[in-house]
Amino acid sequence: MTESLEILQIPCLQDNYGYLIHAPQAQLTAAIDTPDASAINDALDSRGWALTHILNTHHHFDHTGGNESLKAQWGCKIVGPAADRSRIPGIDTALADGDVYDFGGHHASVFDVPGHTRGHIAYHFADDGVAFVGDTLFALGCGRLFEGTPAQMWTSLEKLLALPDATRVYCAHEYTEANARFALTVDPQNDALRDRAVKISEMRARGEPTVPTSIGLERRTNPFLRPSSESLRRTLDMLDASDVEVFAEVRARKDRF
Ligand code: ZN
Ligand code: FE
Repeated sequence: MTESLEILQIPCLQDNYGYLIHAPQAQLTAAIDTPDASAINDALDSRGWALTHILNTHHHFDHTGGNESLKAQWGCKIVGPAADRSRIPGIDTALADGDVYDFGGHHASVFDVPGHTRGHIAYHFADDGVAFVGDTLFALGCGRLFEGTPAQMWTSLEKLLALPDATRVYCAHEYTEANARFALTVDPQNDALRDRAVKISEMRARGEPTVPTSIGLERRTNPFLRPSSESLRRTLDMLDASDVEVFAEVRARKDRF
């Protein structure tokens, strides 16, 4: 039997989370994105792990900024989105929708989730019940549409919504408290959201991370995942619109919030 992945969460920069995942039997360690090489090196030191891989989600500098120095230092292998191969520094292996990446016996299903950037992938380790989603899905939010359309992003989010509710979701930023303030403006009747917003404020006041979240919790409370909700539609006065239209309106309101 495969021992579960060990996951280390690393606060980086202003509000990023980097992650290390460690496969104990194979003795492999990957950084999920590289927001800050020195913070990642400190985390490796704290466990006595050697960096063997970098798994990138997308090209933005707060996700790939440490790629080249970490590769020079460790000789690690860099894996990232095929659709953005040319913008991932040091990439060795390009992955696309439907690929399965074997990380020391832990298998990650790869999803193309464009919208935030044109090449963005998510990694789902089904046996471990975890997903690394970069800047596609946040706790109570989703990524800004820098290089994609609302329809693309909605399709991407639907792929993540198809994962089991218990899936632990590791997002790349701690944006939850601000996201909660916005979410309450578009889904004010949602009791689960109101309860969660209170808990989030308490957690942040204690300096605790609100990530990871879960697919089930996001399904119930994240307005970007709830375009079919009648009460949310009523608030937006969009009862007859399509899910994509409602999603686009929620995204546009958040951009102005
Ligand atoms: Zn980004
Ligand atoms: Fe980011």
